Amino acid sequence: MSIALYGIGIGGGIAIGRAHLVSHTTADVSHYFLESADIRAELQRFDDAIRTTRKELEMLWGSIPENAPAELGAFLSLHIMLLNDAALSREPRKIIQAERCNAEWALKQQADQLIAQFEEIEEAYLRERKHDVMQVVERIFKNLAGQSSAPPLPSSLIDDAILVAHDLSPADMVYFKDASYAAFVTDVGGATSHTAILARSLDLPSVIATHSARHLIHEDELMIVDGQQGVVIVNPDETVLAEYRRRQRAWRAARNKLASLKKTNAQTQDGTPIELLANIELPKDVAEVVESGAMGVGLFRSEFLFLGRDTLPDEQEQYEAYRHVAEQLNGRPVTIRTMDLGADKNPKWSIHGTGDNPALGLCGIRLCLAEPQLFRTQLRAILRASAHGQVRILFPMINGITDLKQALAQLDTAKQELREEGVSFDEKIAVGAMIEVPSAALTVNMLAKHVNFLSIGTNDLIQYTLAIDRNDDAVSHLYDPTHPAVLYLLTHTLKTAAKFGLPVSVCGEMAGDSKMTRLLLGMGLRRFSMHPANLLSVKQIVLDTHLDPTVAQTAKILRASDPEKIADLLTQLNTPRAA
Ligand code: PEP
Ligand code: MG
Repeated sequence: MSIALYGIGIGGGIAIGRAHLVSHTTADVSHYFLESADIRAELQRFDDAIRTTRKELEMLWGSIPENAPAELGAFLSLHIMLLNDAALSREPRKIIQAERCNAEWALKQQADQLIAQFEEIEEAYLRERKHDVMQVVERIFKNLAGQSSAPPLPSSLIDDAILVAHDLSPADMVYFKDASYAAFVTDVGGATSHTAILARSLDLPSVIATHSARHLIHEDELMIVDGQQGVVIVNPDETVLAEYRRRQRAWRAARNKLASLKKTNAQTQDGTPIELLANIELPKDVAEVVESGAMGVGLFRSEFLFLGRDTLPDEQEQYEAYRHVAEQLNGRPVTIRTMDLGADKNPKWSIHGTGDNPALGLCGIRLCLAEPQLFRTQLRAILRASAHGQVRILFPMINGITDLKQALAQLDTAKQELREEGVSFDEKIAVGAMIEVPSAALTVNMLAKHVNFLSIGTNDLIQYTLAIDRNDDAVSHLYDPTHPAVLYLLTHTLKTAAKFGLPVSVCGEMAGDSKMTRLLLGMGLRRFSMHPANLLSVKQIVLDTHLDPTVAQTAKILRASDPEKIADLLTQLNTPRAA
């Protein structure tokens, strides 16, 4: 039966492929109590799931293609061994009986305990095997939910796999960056959540916040993912499939056409140059930046070097990563944001919890200042890399002059240490503050005196101004970049910075949204930083824009208070006009 699901579309394009379901032992697992009379059936359900899982693994083992990596056989054998171990196949039965709980809950209890035991192991290779335990447990979960109609193929062996998950953490996404999926679909997530940003950075059509994809979609089902419209169609009929294939061809053709703009200078019709920079998460992303024709990196989210791993990257590892990016850019600038950890980007090794309100807790620069040793290690690494290219430093989550001054003091100490050690770095390195908290935007005149540039993080600025959790799809309809309060803070920042002669960029998702390009140009923005995949569509708008009428129309938007009126004026602003 064909079904359609609606969510938030991330990234353009259309993918057509087969579903590959993933889940996590940490994901919500239901817990309910059983009547004594139902225990026997529950044990049977558990045994059936174990049996089906075993069959799947054995089938997979028997059908390993000849050209598959040698490790695949070894991993599958290990998974079969783990499944056959009493710890997974017998212990949960005891929990079902003792606690009179459902099989999923019993399995989760047991899995958590096993994983904790693995985490205690000192030897790194053995400790890593906890991931194998998790993968086997996930298979059992799927079979308990009756969701495994066909044995899932390892993702590395299929080209058109579409990843379907309840949720993906930013750390998961780092892992998925290396796997080749055609698209992503998740149940939850906001349009500017880090998961969405990473999905966008993979340049894949993805749909998030579908609410029920993980339950409604079965392994290996044929799916269409329309990342532009936010639509997922499962088991499409021939007519629908043909229509989407046509749209897919049209989208690819339009994209190829844009590619001709790569070498064109970004300037408006009146000849005003506009700086288009790229955002990256990992050093290897720099290749795409060079390919996209960006003028440099406006935001390197360095915290991703710290995620998805059990240990901290030391100074040398960080230095090499930053140096690699600086060198690859061949004289073009790279703005390295110091680690913006905490909230939804909480590394495994962190000793700090996330608190009840993670986004209001110890995150961004606050975490850096609470861990000066860690912070200075990073600052030293960035400074050392500055000897090899045009490196800038950017502090995240600044909320006022106090934390900015503290961060600058740490930077001075790091510089002094290097001087004493005779290590070279760029003495004139540019330092900037992110404007992503309303208090920073409102006190920008105070911050401006201490920095060389500003970068507006609209993702957080909107979150904190409107009190809308950017990760929560339940309130994502209220997440409005054109809310008058947001527009006020943007214009206030731009105007104040202009008075101080400070360059300002926008590096939040708003900068890569071509529907916002003219509005930002009209407000006076001249530096945009976005994911490379959006760069050419933004450049196209820049090239088609006449600044004078854009400024006049933007002024009308800034005076309007009614959301419908604002939306109408924005549509008018974006309507192509005759040159
Ligand atoms: C922002 O908040 O807009 C931003 C660029 O930072 P991040 O999305 O990484 O929080
Ligand atoms: Mg931010």
